[in-house]
Amino acid sequence: MKMQVLYNMVVEVPRWSNAKMEIAIKEPLNPIKQDEKKGKLRYVANIFPHKGYIWNYGALPQTWEDPGQKDKETNCCGDNDPIDVCDIGTQVCSTGQVIQVKVLGILAMIDEGEMDWKVIAINAEDPDAKNLNNIEDVRKNRPGHLEATVEWFRKYKVPDGKPENKFGFNGEFKDKDFAVEIIKSTHEHWRALVQKQNSCFMCFKNTLCCDSPWRCTTDEAREVVQSVRTLLVLWHFV
Ligand SMILES: [Mg+2]
Repeated sequence: MKMQVLYNMVVEVPRWSNAKMEIAIKEPLNPIKQDEKKGKLRYVANIFPHKGYIWNYGALPQTWEDPGQKDKETNCCGDNDPIDVCDIGTQVCSTGQVIQVKVLGILAMIDEGEMDWKVIAINAEDPDAKNLNNIEDVRKNRPGHLEATVEWFRKYKVPDGKPENKFGFNGEFKDKDFAVEIIKSTHEHWRALVQKQNSCFMCFKNTLCCDSPWRCTTDEAREVVQSVRTLLVLWHFV
């Protein structure tokens, strides 16, 4: 029997919800917060006939789409974020939940000229996970979900006055093996990044990456969390 490779996915946005929750890469220990635009909390519009995000949406930790790397197929550079994942499982997850997923394929979204890969995966605990092994299985077992996914990503910023997103490979999904190669390369870019001394704009403070100059002790990490709590309490009583 072939060994099954699973990936850890950090869920940012639960299926059917609209708040744009994301890993804050510029803040110590990278908490998940709601994105803001011009001081206002960001929500995605409902893209007819859907409600909110049509999958659990999140990211693979320890990956980075490097803005300094040009994709050879699409000629676009990375969007400076961890790689995004759509979990098509039926369980509605919660923000911050870490689930193991089986990778099934990938979509080459291009957001205003930036490469923004969308990995298609399924929660390994989903009753259907054992029947889905590649993108064609998704097409057969979940009629319409892949088409809806491309349309959703094409249009989701239009209600905010942005242009439609574009896609590499004519908007066609690439299969699992291709997805795994992309994930591997984003992991290598992340690895190089956290080993650098001076990585501006982002915060790599962490407790686990042995070879990172940004590694800190659990006590230091606790202090970070405590100071945020103190700020929240003060803010609450103003
Ligand atoms: Mg992205």
